Parts: sequence; C-alpha cells; structure tokens
Amino acid sequence: MNFDRQLISGQQGLLEKGILELSRQDAELARLLDDEVVRQHNTLSLVASCCTVDPRTLAASASALVNVTAEGGPGKRYHAGCLNVDKVESLAIERAKSLFGAQYANVQSHSASNANYQVFSALLKPGDTFLGMSLDHGGHLTHGSPVTVSGTFYKAIGYGTTDEGLIDYEEVRRLAHEHHPKLIVCGATAYSRVVDFARFREIADEVGAILMADISHIAGLVATGLHPSPVDHAHVTTTCTHKQLAGPRGGLILSGRDANDIVPGFNLPFSRILDRAVFPMMQGAPAVNIIAAKAAAFGYAQKPEFKQYITRIRHAADTIADAFNAHGYEVIGGQTNNHTVLIKLRGELTGTIAEEALEECGITVNKNRIPGETRSSFVTSGLRIGTGALAQRHMDEIGCKKVVELVCRILDAVHIVSEKEYRLNPELRDGFINEVQSVCRDYPILSYTQ
Ligand SMILES: *Cc1c(COP(=O)(O)O)cnc(C)c1O
Repeated sequence: MNFDRQLISGQQGLLEKGILELSRQDAELARLLDDEVVRQHNTLSLVASCCTVDPRTLAASASALVNVTAEGGPGKRYHAGCLNVDKVESLAIERAKSLFGAQYANVQSHSASNANYQVFSALLKPGDTFLGMSLDHGGHLTHGSPVTVSGTFYKAIGYGTTDEGLIDYEEVRRLAHEHHPKLIVCGATAYSRVVDFARFREIADEVGAILMADISHIAGLVATGLHPSPVDHAHVTTTCTHKQLAGPRGGLILSGRDANDIVPGFNLPFSRILDRAVFPMMQGAPAVNIIAAKAAAFGYAQKPEFKQYITRIRHAADTIADAFNAHGYEVIGGQTNNHTVLIKLRGELTGTIAEEALEECGITVNKNRIPGETRSSFVTSGLRIGTGALAQRHMDEIGCKKVVELVCRILDAVHIVSEKEYRLNPELRDGFINEVQSVCRDYPILSYTQ
C-alpha cells in the first residue's frame, strides 16, 4: 500500500508536540518529569541494576506503536493492522539472537520476573521441585523466595555460597541428587564472581533437570564476551532488558543449541513451549512500543561504544573493590569479576543506616546481606555497589577513587543510635551534598546536558 505522507508530522513531530502540550496543559506532571531528570543528574547511583537509557531507546519506547494491539507473534496475529508491528518485532528478535548467539528469542515478556514465571509455568506443574540460589546468598526473589509465586506455587530448594562468597557447586550437586528437581535456576542478583554455567549444566544433566540461566544482572557482560555466555549451556536463558542492556523495562527469553530439542514430557520443542508460555499462558497483547525500544537497545549493544561502556563497567568495579580494600573494608570474596562489589560494613554500622545516610548525601546504593549474615534482611551488614551508572558517566580511576573516599567519609561521619537509627551532623551533610554534586558535574550524564 502506498500511504499518503502529506500532513503527517511523523514520529518526531508527535514527540515534540507531546512534550510541548504536556508543559502547556499539564504543568504539574511535566514539572515532576523534569525534576526526575535533574535528580538523576545530581545524584550518584551506585545501584547495581541502574543505568540510563539512551535517548534513541527512550524515543522508540514513546512511539505510535503503543496504539497497536497485536496478540500473537510476527506473521501469526489475532489482530489486523500489524504490518509494521510484525517488522519491528522480527527486527527485535533477529537482533536479540545475533547479540547473544541464540537460536531462539521471545521479546514480549513485560519484565524479567514475568519471563521467569513464563518459563516456570511452561516447564513445571504446581508443586514441582526446582533448585534456585536463595535470596540470602544473592539469588533473585523469583528464584524461590517464599514471598513470591516461585516459592509458593512450586517446591523451591535454595542453594547458597561458601564462606568465601563463591557458589557452593558441591551443595548444588548434593541438593540436585537429593531432591531431583525438574528445573535448576542459576544466575543471581547480588553475586560478584563468574557463574560457571557449564558446571551447572553438568549437574542438571546428571539428574535429568532442565537448566535455566537468569542473566538479568550481567546481560551486557555476556553480550560483549566479558562474562561466559550461558546461552548454549542452559536450555533456556532469561534476562531483563533495562539493567546493563540500557534498554526499556522489559524481559527477554533466549534459547541456544537446545531450542529445537523436544522438551522432556511435552512432545514439542523448547521454542514452541516458550512462545506458548508467554502468550497466551501468561500475557495478552505485547507492548509493541517497548519491543521497538528493545530493538533499539539490541542494535546499540552491537556497536563498539557499547563494548567500551561495558569495559568501563569492569574497570570501575576493579578500581572500587581495590579502593574499599585500601580503606580497610572487607570486599566479599576479596574481589569482583563483574560489575558488583559487595562490601562488609564495620562494627555497629548496618546496611540500612549506610543506605539511608548515603541517600541523604545524594548517593544511592543498596544494603545487602553478606555470607554468614546475623542481621535481618531489613537491616543487613553489607552494601552492594554496582558500576553501571558510573561507567555511563565515563568515570575514570580518579573519579571512582573519589567516590569510594566520599562514601567512606560519609559512613565514618554517621553517629549510630541503634540498628536502624543514626544521626548525621547537618553541616557535614550539606558539605557532602556539595561534594557529590561537584562529582556529578565533573562526570555528567552526557545525554542530560545541553
Ligand atoms: C532484576 C532481576 C530480575 C527482575 O527483573 P524485573 O524486570 O524487574 O522483573 C530477575 N532476575 C534477576 C536475577 C534480576 O537481577
């Protein structure tokens, strides 16, 4: 069909008009949106999952595709009008496959949690047993925590880390032989070392289990070869698209060499079972505008700039681990192989106090449990630091050392009252805020500056 393009302002006109109208007619909301850009620019995020989306990806997510209902997949929709949508989704799928060297990709999951539940609901029956890393040792909520579907609909068995903070593969093997899980989940949220996916597959094969790898936290390292890829070791790999991939909030399901193998007990290959699990089992129509943003992010992730950014993430993590060691803090496991550094806090200082005191000064970071934790998960004795956002600010070694020094000075200035209460001298705090803002100005988020 040859459409008339006259009078049509296109995607660019649409976005410009939208932003203008928002500021004219809904100043209250427009102001809040601006405030958030200013807040992000003036605070230092050390949150391990944090990163800033590229403006191209942001624009794709705000496209007119949002208007299209498109249940099904490319070429097999339950709705008409999917001409462009099919092309966009196919592009996202092809880019995801090429980025991760996968045979299969489904780009429709609304989040990584959804993707995980889609895999569970495809491969497990309620009450079936699966093995996952326990939350206390760095696993994700969806890997079997009793406060989620994963820990209530299924029988979740948790494995953990050794006192050195490394995954206890012998425990994984022992639990696998003892409980005969249908599924083993590997991958973590707070783990700073390499995950040995091949070893997990060996254990899964020994007991006839399916292996799922959740690489939400390390997807950028995996995509650029800076962490071994699970795609051909695990039967299924899941990830979110908004952490290291710097894409929109969403999920992704991949499969490698097992994609076309028949799933034990199903008579269908993994690819078919997984597609069916996303739609119609767990979701309705996909968010096609978000799929476009995923395509933009996967495209960006194949460029040399992306590899440079992920390389900066690794260097910053090494610098930060060394700097904390130099300031006398214990780094869990002694070092890091990815983007996270886990710190044990000293004396009476708890994770919750450290998190709050740092936020008061403009540094955001997460409290974290440590191996052999004695405090509750609301209190904790550690911090989890990630370098994604620092790497996006092009922070060099000098900047990273300055950040660690600032964090240490703030923590030293905290006057501890109880596990959750503290005081911070307001004058000192204002001084810290100024210092943080000066670091933010020295290393700006480039897409936010004029
Ligand atoms: C962040 C994370 C998720 C959840 O991602 P959402 O998209 O927020 O649901 C799942 N698994 C792991 C390992 C994560 O780190």
